Amino acid sequence: MKNEKAVVVFSGGQDSTTCLLWALEQFKEVATVTFDYGQRHYDEIECARKIADELGVSFHILDMKLINQLSANALTRHDIEVKAGENGELPSTFVPGRNHLFLSFAAVYAQAIGARHIITGVCETDFSGYPDCRDNFVKSLNVTLNLAMDEQFVIHTPLMWLNKAETWKFADQLNALDFVKEKTLTCYHGIRGDGCGECPSCVLRKQGLNTYLESKQGGASL
Ligand code: ZN
Repeated sequence: MKNEKAVVVFSGGQDSTTCLLWALEQFKEVATVTFDYGQRHYDEIECARKIADELGVSFHILDMKLINQLSANALTRHDIEVKAGENGELPSTFVPGRNHLFLSFAAVYAQAIGARHIITGVCETDFSGYPDCRDNFVKSLNVTLNLAMDEQFVIHTPLMWLNKAETWKFADQLNALDFVKEKTLTCYHGIRGDGCGECPSCVLRKQGLNTYLESKQGGASL
C-alpha cells in the first residue's frame, strides 16, 4: 500500500489522530478530511488543523452543518446536556446516521483527489453503541460506495476491535503516545489533552490510558 493514496476521516481526537499516524506509515500520500457540523467547540477543528499542519498532511474541511437541520443533539446544542446512554439508550451526543453520511462524503472527496483508501477511527468495542460505527455497517457501506461510484475503495478501520487501552497501546507502538496524549482533543467540553476528566469521553480516555500504563508497568500484556 506504500505507493497508494489515502484519506483519513479526521477530527483531531485520540482515535482519528492515532489512525492518521498509522496511515502515515502505511501509505505514500495521506490527506485528511474534517467535518464541520457546528461542533459545540470550534476548538475541535482548530485542534485538527494544528495536528495536520504539524504532521505535514493536507487538511480539508467539509461543511456538514446541514445535519443540524435534521436532528438535535448534545454535540451541537448547548441546551442539551451531555449524557451517557442508560438502559440501552443511545447517548445524548448521538447524531443518527452521522458516520454514514460522513464516510459517504469522505468517499466522494477521496475520488476527487484520486485516493482509493479511506481510514476511519470508528470502533465497535467500547464506543457508545452507534450503529453506523459497527463493522458490519462499514463493510456494507464499502460495497455500496464501490457500486455507487464504480470504484475500488478500501475502508480501513484499524481501531474497530480495540478497546481504549489497546488504542493507547497502538499509539505507543507508533511511537506517538505522548503526541496523542498531549495534542488531541476528545473532551466534550473542549479541553485538549487530558480534558475535563469528567465527561463520558474523558472518563473512557482516562480509564483506557490508566489500564494501558498499568499493564505496561507490570509487564502484562493487555
Ligand atoms: Zn471532558
